[in-house]
Amino acid sequence: MNSPTFQILMLLTVILVVIMTVVLFAVQQANREIPGLRAWAYSYLCGLLLCVSFLLRPHVPEGPAVIVSQVLLFTSAWLNLVATQIYTGRRPWTRTCFGWALLIVLGLASYLTWQQPEPRLRLALILGAGGTLMLLSALAMLSAEIRRQPERYLFTLACGTHGLALLATSLSLLLIQTHPTDLERLDFVAQFVLIESIVVLVMRAFGVVMLANAHITAELRHFAERDPLTSIYNRRSFMTLLDKSVNLMQRMNSPLSLLGLDLDHFKRINDTWGHGSGDQALRHFVQLTTEHLRNEDVIGRVGGEEFVIFLPNTGLEAAACVAERLRALIESQPVAGPHGPIALTVSIGVTLIAKGETQEAALQRVDEAMYRAKAKGRNRVELA
Ligand code: GH3
Ligand code: MG
Ligand code: MG
Repeated sequence: MNSPTFQILMLLTVILVVIMTVVLFAVQQANREIPGLRAWAYSYLCGLLLCVSFLLRPHVPEGPAVIVSQVLLFTSAWLNLVATQIYTGRRPWTRTCFGWALLIVLGLASYLTWQQPEPRLRLALILGAGGTLMLLSALAMLSAEIRRQPERYLFTLACGTHGLALLATSLSLLLIQTHPTDLERLDFVAQFVLIESIVVLVMRAFGVVMLANAHITAELRHFAERDPLTSIYNRRSFMTLLDKSVNLMQRMNSPLSLLGLDLDHFKRINDTWGHGSGDQALRHFVQLTTEHLRNEDVIGRVGGEEFVIFLPNTGLEAAACVAERLRALIESQPVAGPHGPIALTVSIGVTLIAKGETQEAALQRVDEAMYRAKAKGRNRVELA
């Protein structure tokens, strides 16, 4: 551990980890809402302190220095796992759980340092624990919806590689018979782990920054495309999707139908029960409707209480059936208001987009059909 090569490697690692820790804390300060980023930054801080503790080894008593290193390595790996759990929307392992695990690590390290000095076994155990936590982090990230966020691959690769390397080192320490005082071999193992750690530390930090970036991008996209009250597409993004779908369906010679929906006497709900109940009614309507639609159907909020739905591969007759089922569903399920159920109905216009027709013309027609439904007494479906 005191060889010049080791010291130089250690110094290089410290410089790298300082840079990465500062970067992670800076990104975290600028984007406090990114889940897990704080725990990742603290994981790197523990890693930094671990490197410093290695550098100070020759100048402090060995026993306490070893214990501190073991605690820091374990805490760093634990925080990495907790950060991954938070980022991927899982419930993170609790502090109590961490407290107990740390107590076991401390107990074992103390026992193998003072009671029954076994440096090889002690190193094997902590590397095994760290490796397991790293592998669990990789698995947690891998089993999340990784296909929708390819940025997760780099982090998974870094944690997976590091976990496997630590476990392999731990296993070889247990299997290869060396004398407990064979410090030269321990030094070799320490150098191998260190070089591997440098590569993986950089990869993992890049992985975390990419994940943070992916989170921000997804959030910005959500704000730009979605209606904040109901989380369905807003007018602009709905029109873009409709335009694409119209082109695709016309190329494939497939029918595409439109439903125009307007909640009946919605102003009355606001006036009678308050704006909060009005908002609740809008969310209730959207939830019922989206549950009822197929995956490929798209709904957008195009006005205050006005919605449009397009149904790919659906002719006029089938679309009219969908509209009638929706109308009946909304009528049958009143909104659960704070002062009791609030009756809600919807008027729906239905049209089929004709070949070569623009979406504006079809939207105009579906609007006229919807107003006809209003004129004929509301809570009904009218075909264009
Ligand atoms: P009709 O049956 O003819 O459609 O009558 P209506 O009362 O539904 O139509 P009108 O256009 O007169 O009123 C729509 C109301 O919807 C007016 C507006 O205050 C309300 N509204 C629009 N956006 C929101 C919203 O986000 N939340 C709430 N609570 N109300 C909204
Ligand atoms: Mg209305
Ligand atoms: Mg309206």
